[in-house]
Amino acid sequence: MPQNAAIEQFRHALRGQLLSPGDAQYDAVRKVPNAMIDRRPGMIARCAGAADVVTCVRFAREHDLLVAVRGGGHSVAGKSVCDGGLMIDLSTMKGIRVDPVRKTARAETGLKLGEFDRETQAFGLATTLGTVSATGISGLTLGAGFGHLMAKFGLALDNVISVDLVTADGRLLSASPAENEDLFWGVRGSSGNLGIVTSIEYRLHEVGPVLGGGVFYPISQTREVLRFFREYAETCPDELVIQAGGLTLPEAGRVIALAACYCGDLSEGERVLKPMRQFGKPLADIFAPIPYVQMQSLFDPFFPPGRLTYAKSNFVQTLSDEAIDVMAELAPSCPSPHTFAPAMEHWHGAATRVKPSETAFPHRNYKFNFMVWSNWEQASESEKNIQWTREYMQAMRPFLSAGSYVNYVSDEGEAVARAAYGPNYDRLVGLKNKYDPTNFFRMNHNIRPTVSAATAGAA
Ligand SMILES: Cc1cc2nc3c(=O)[nH]c(=O)nc-3n(C[C@H](O)[C@H](O)[C@H](O)COP(=O)(O)OP(=O)(O)OC[C@H]3O[C@@H](n4cnc5c(N)ncnc54)[C@H](O)[C@@H]3O)c2cc1C
Repeated sequence: MPQNAAIEQFRHALRGQLLSPGDAQYDAVRKVPNAMIDRRPGMIARCAGAADVVTCVRFAREHDLLVAVRGGGHSVAGKSVCDGGLMIDLSTMKGIRVDPVRKTARAETGLKLGEFDRETQAFGLATTLGTVSATGISGLTLGAGFGHLMAKFGLALDNVISVDLVTADGRLLSASPAENEDLFWGVRGSSGNLGIVTSIEYRLHEVGPVLGGGVFYPISQTREVLRFFREYAETCPDELVIQAGGLTLPEAGRVIALAACYCGDLSEGERVLKPMRQFGKPLADIFAPIPYVQMQSLFDPFFPPGRLTYAKSNFVQTLSDEAIDVMAELAPSCPSPHTFAPAMEHWHGAATRVKPSETAFPHRNYKFNFMVWSNWEQASESEKNIQWTREYMQAMRPFLSAGSYVNYVSDEGEAVARAAYGPNYDRLVGLKNKYDPTNFFRMNHNIRPTVSAATAGAA
C-alpha cells in the first residue's frame, strides 16, 4: 500500500470521495448485489467525473495497485470489486443529456438502466438496454446488452455512437468511427478490457407504450411450453422479443413462464401475441399495454440484491426435442425457489443482422441463449446450488455451443473468457497489446496481452 502522505495527496486530488476500511460508508459501498462476492478493496474512489478516473489510473499505476472498476456492480462474477488495491467506483457518475432532435443521449457510466430509461422516456425515446432496472448501463453495454428492443434496434452496443474512455496510461480519449476507430471497435464487446469508459453516447428511438408481460404454466408442462416457444420464435417480427424461464411464483409455486415485449403498434401486437396467450391453459396471463419504463422493471421483484448467485450460459443454434426433454426432466429438481432454470432468450432481428467481426461482440448467428441462473439465500446452501447448476449444464452440454455471452458467466477462467470473445479474440489481444500491454485492467473476463513485460515497459 502507498504511504499515508501519498494517500492524502490522492484524496485531495479527487473531486469525489476516497474511502478506506474503517470509514463509515466503506462496508455499504464495497458491497455488490451478488452476496457470493465479499471482497475488501484497500481503497474505494467514488469518482465525480472523468478527471477523477484519470487521477485514479495514474495513482494506481504509480503505486502498482490492482484495480477494479464498478459501473452498476451487477457482474455475476464479482469483477467490479477486488481484495486490496483500488476500487474505481463510477456509480456516483450519473449525468445524462438527451438530445431529442438528434435522438441521442450522452450518459455517464454510473447510471443504472432504470435511471437512463426514465430520462430518455421523458422525451418518448429509448434504446436497447437490459431487462432488470438496477443493472448498470456500462458493464451491460460493454459486454453486449440483450434487451426487449434488441430485435428492432440491435444490442445496446449496436446503439453506441461514441465513448470517452481512460486508457491504462492515464489518457482520456474519445472513440468513435471517426476517432480511435480501433478502440471504438474493441470497446464494444470487450467488457472493460481496454480502458475505463466514462461516458457513452447512444442512439435513441421512439418507443412506448409497449405490449408487455407474460403467461405462466405449471412446471409439469415444461416440455410442451418449450416446444411451443421454439416454434413460435420462428414467427417473431422484429418488434417482438421473447424469453422462457422456469421460476417460482408465491401463489402458484414452480412454473414455466413465457415473457415478451412488443414495441410496435399495439393492436398489431395483440394479434401477434395471440398464439402465445392462447396456447394451452395458462395459470395466469399478465399481458397489457404498459409504459416502457414499467416494462423495464417488470422483472425487478425476482432479482433483489443480496442473494447468492451463480450463473452459467451458452448459446444454442437449434433447440432439439432431446434438449427440451433434458430441460423438462431437470426442471422440477431445482433446489432453490429463486433460481431461473431453464432460462432462455430468443436472439433475432437487428441484433443478429450484424457481422460477427463488425464489433468485438461475435455471437450474431445463434438463435437462443441458454442459461441456468441460480439464486439462493443462505451461504450454507452454496455447495448444493453450485453443484446442481454444474450438473444441469453438463447434462445440456451436448446441445450447447462453446460460445457464451461474457455478461452471463461466473468466474470460469481463461477458456470460458476466450470462448466468450470467440473469433474476435486474437484481434482483441492485438488491441490489448497496444492499449494495455501490462494487463492493468484485469478484473474482467480477461484478454491477456502477449507482449512481454520488457517490451510493454519500453512502449
Ligand atoms: C439481475 C441481473 C439481470 C441482468 N439482466 C441482463 C439483461 O437483461 N441483459 C443483459 O445483456 N445483461 C444482463 N445482465 C448481465 C449484465 O449485463 C452484466 O452483469 C453487466 O456486467 C452488468 O453491468 P454493471 O455495470 O452493473 O456491472 P459491473 O459489475 O459494475 O461491471 C461489470 C464488468 O464491466 C466492467 N465495467 C463496468 N463499467 C465499466 C466502465 N465504465 N468502463 C470499463 N469497465 C467497466 C467491470 O470492471 C466489470 O468487469 C444481468 C445481470 C444481473 C445480475
